[in-house]
Amino acid sequence: MTPGAFALFVDAWVLAVGACVGSFLNVVIARVPKGRSIVAPPSSCPRCGKRIAWYDNIPVLSWLLLRARCRSCGLPISARYPLVEVLAALLVFAVWKQLGLQGSTLGFAAFVCALLALTFIDLDTWLLPHQLTWPLLALGLISPLWNAELSWMEAGVGALAGFGVFAAIALFGEKVLHKETMGWGDVWLLAAIGAWLGWPALLPVVLLSAIQGSVVGIALLLLGRGPAEKERAERERLAQEMAAAQPASPPATEPGATAATELGATAATEPGATAATEPVSTESAAQLDTDDDWVPPPHALPYGPFLALAALETLLAHDAIVKLFYAVFGKLAA
Ligand SMILES: [Zn+2]
Repeated sequence: MTPGAFALFVDAWVLAVGACVGSFLNVVIARVPKGRSIVAPPSSCPRCGKRIAWYDNIPVLSWLLLRARCRSCGLPISARYPLVEVLAALLVFAVWKQLGLQGSTLGFAAFVCALLALTFIDLDTWLLPHQLTWPLLALGLISPLWNAELSWMEAGVGALAGFGVFAAIALFGEKVLHKETMGWGDVWLLAAIGAWLGWPALLPVVLLSAIQGSVVGIALLLLGRGPAEKERAERERLAQEMAAAQPASPPATEPGATAATELGATAATEPGATAATEPVSTESAAQLDTDDDWVPPPHALPYGPFLALAALETLLAHDAIVKLFYAVFGKLAA
């Protein structure tokens, strides 16, 4: 095998491994928010419950061969499964191309995969589970063990500063404004990012996430309704049906009643009538501490995906971003 062919073979192998990890991330995204095991039972069709055979569970290829339909029940399989697999493959490949064969490559591959899973979990549930953010923070704090470019000081200060800045914003919102400005999941995620990338990366991460979050938020406002609002409208319609069916709200401690309370709280707000920063409703505003009862305000966006995106950009396109940063701010200062 010539060196060129060998390099191609290794690249293909990295892409394939990344896609397989993406397949596992699909399981993480579906199960971790529900507190279910990510090891057992094996994957089954979410619609008919039939076990998925290994030959129908090959990343991306099976979805294409099955033409996006379950072999057993024939119902559509979401394009999100192959999307997560492709994204994982590309991100792992990008880390490999950037860092090559060295100690930090495997660590950063795990880091980008965790960010990918957290992004989709936050989009689905508006939560960043501690089961993922805390281990990610712990690994980041010990990552100088395998990442020679990162000092213990940079990792430790990065975690503390990341936590401190967002915790201050969250506490200011809760205690002074009595609004949720920053979720605690975002606080832990920025702490983890600070540990993995070191404190010098925090300013670009915070700036990039804020700028891109604002651009997307404004675009969704201008376009009228984003996908999140469509889902919201659907939930409100359901809530009104449920409210009509059972007028008395059952105690929130009963399982199943939580869903009704949550949907009821959603119905209490009118979409579009309140600005994104307004408290959602008296009912849910009083329960801001418990994430379970929190209802996204109209036009709100989860912040986790933008933090993850900014961290990925800072890790994978660091030099280009620093150049752009100085090009823009250098001109402003001159
Ligand atoms: Zn099925």
